[in-house]
Amino acid sequence: MNAEPQVPRVQATAVPILKLAGVERHYGDAAGRLTVLDAVDLEVFPGELVALAAPSGAGKSTLLHIAGLLERPDAGDVMIGGRAAGKLSDAERTTIRRVQIGFVYQFHHLLGEFSALENVVIPQLVRGLSRKLAEQRAMQLLSYMRVKQRASHRPSELSGGEQQRVAIARAVANAPRLLLADEPTGNLDPVTAGYVFEALAKLVRASRVAALIATHNHELAERMDRRITIRQGKVVEL
Ligand code: ADP
Repeated sequence: MNAEPQVPRVQATAVPILKLAGVERHYGDAAGRLTVLDAVDLEVFPGELVALAAPSGAGKSTLLHIAGLLERPDAGDVMIGGRAAGKLSDAERTTIRRVQIGFVYQFHHLLGEFSALENVVIPQLVRGLSRKLAEQRAMQLLSYMRVKQRASHRPSELSGGEQQRVAIARAVANAPRLLLADEPTGNLDPVTAGYVFEALAKLVRASRVAALIATHNHELAERMDRRITIRQGKVVEL
């Protein structure tokens, strides 16, 4: 009698959205060289929230700038969705950044003369979406971030927590694959920070965006999937 055919094993096929391979970054000249990133390898997968927790000056912003294709590393490469960015032209890197990467900063950087809704609509119009569809999506995102009722208000009329909720909605307006955040709740009181983070985390899980979030807030870092830090230029898991 023949044995039952073996069911083929399913390979883990998840491809990291962000991959840093042997990334190095140095500042200064040969006489006084500062190595900020030293052969850094890092992968962030779809729907994953990774906390980047390191002391000031350790290289968090440098790492985020390189991951976001705002700066080029001195060695190594960055892959976004499996595509190596190192050999691409500045124009190609800008396109990847616009289409595939969303940024959230400590300060909201919303356009002051436009409403919350317009701030989420504008990046979509720039991408070529119709106003009707852009407005629909913006309202959905503002609703998801629980600031729909503030849609017609300008940033100066919003609380700090509301401004950051709108900034997060704007960052994902064009459905990026990677979300990079630099202290997104750093200006907020602990309770507000917790609520804003909760909304951000829910959005990341639902949209399957890969998120790398620099934070000094240990409590929030503990709520993410993984925690990494930078020690003497090396990325280490905590
Ligand atoms: P973090 O975001 O963790 O505070 P940064 O990435 O801003 O750290 O900076 C890491 C180190 O690199 C710091 O010592 C900083 O002074 C240095 N650095 C950052 N940018 C430059 C630059 N353009 N020229 C020289 N040194 C820099």
